[in-house]
Amino acid sequence: MDCLFCKIAAHEVESDIIYEDDKVIAFLDINPVNHGHTLVVPKKHSEQLLELPDELAEPVIATIKKIMRALMNLPDVEGVNVMQNNYEAAGQVVPHVHFHVIPRKKGDGHRHWPGIGYAEGEAALMTMKLKDGIK
Ligand code: AMP
Ligand code: ZN
Repeated sequence: MDCLFCKIAAHEVESDIIYEDDKVIAFLDINPVNHGHTLVVPKKHSEQLLELPDELAEPVIATIKKIMRALMNLPDVEGVNVMQNNYEAAGQVVPHVHFHVIPRKKGDGHRHWPGIGYAEGEAALMTMKLKDGIK
């Protein structure tokens, strides 16, 4: 399969690997939001989160925590964002599920996305729709 992150996981494409085991690999993002921005990737190909087998969720989260601890040990890191994009509409560029682990510092200039609020009754309606969709 012609997948960049499968190739990185197989060491066919070079990357700056921080951690790997039989299930997960973590390497530096080549275009970091802040230096140390790391991608945590299950080695087995899944396109997005819905396809990720539940049994891989635990090792993936455990690896995210390892990276987060290593980042928080750096003197200039005060916080960490864990982000994950699914489908093109949500900004996913590489179609192999991955988690961004991004070191943060107060005043680093990155802003959270803006909130749009709810008009009267909209939150209740949305709650109903989402509850109906839970399977
Ligand atoms: P996303 O938009 O969530 O799909 O994120 C894809 C990320 O992969 C981006 O932040 C890219 O900078 C990163 N990326 C693309 N190619 C490589 C590569 N060869 N090595 C490391 N990171 C990469
Ligand atoms: Zn892949």
